Amino acid sequence: MGRHAKLAVLMPSLTAKTEQLRAIKEEVLNLTILPLYAYRQKEGNLPVIGEGSHEAKIMLVGEAPGKNEAKTGRPFCGSAGRLLDELLTSINLPRQEVYITNIVKDRPPGNRDPLPEEIVAYASWLDRQINIIRPAVIATLGRFSMSYLLPKFGVTDFGAISQVHGRQFAAEADYGPIVLVPLYHPAAAIYNQALKATMFEDFKILKNL
Ligand code: URA
Repeated sequence: MGRHAKLAVLMPSLTAKTEQLRAIKEEVLNLTILPLYAYRQKEGNLPVIGEGSHEAKIMLVGEAPGKNEAKTGRPFCGSAGRLLDELLTSINLPRQEVYITNIVKDRPPGNRDPLPEEIVAYASWLDRQINIIRPAVIATLGRFSMSYLLPKFGVTDFGAISQVHGRQFAAEADYGPIVLVPLYHPAAAIYNQALKATMFEDFKILKNL
């Protein structure tokens, strides 16, 4: 197949992905009944939908945006993001090659943990993002993302994050096989050198996958 014919085959699917992801952004922006919508408006915040390659083989799923993220609309762009960048660099994985998102797309007040009803309210967008991007590997960052995604893919027999971090769980997504890798949340490791070393070790699994 010639170069132009190849491009013609490729382009519709790339465009379709971008449009579906854009539709998600519009929905989150405009759904006024979302539990964190009023707080977003009051603070002049932005929802954080996700960023990275729409062809990513690896998706990283965090918890909810922090202050910097809600101001810029970009995931992991504050101090946790700096550590995440270091972790990605340590395995030579460019940030642009993965897709990074969160379960909850709006910042909870005062950076508190997301509430169960907030996770329920936002999770269907994460489900759609997964089916649009179709990653082969999903790394969960922190216990909220782990506790939502492992059971979603039928993995119910897992322990606390301290027991399962850095392990691989094979599962089936709607579009084919998937590997889930629970990891600690980078924010937990910023001031904890032992945890930080563990995270650097755990990230090596992503490179191997
Ligand atoms: N913590 C998260 O879980 N997500 C972000 O985007 C930033 C910090």
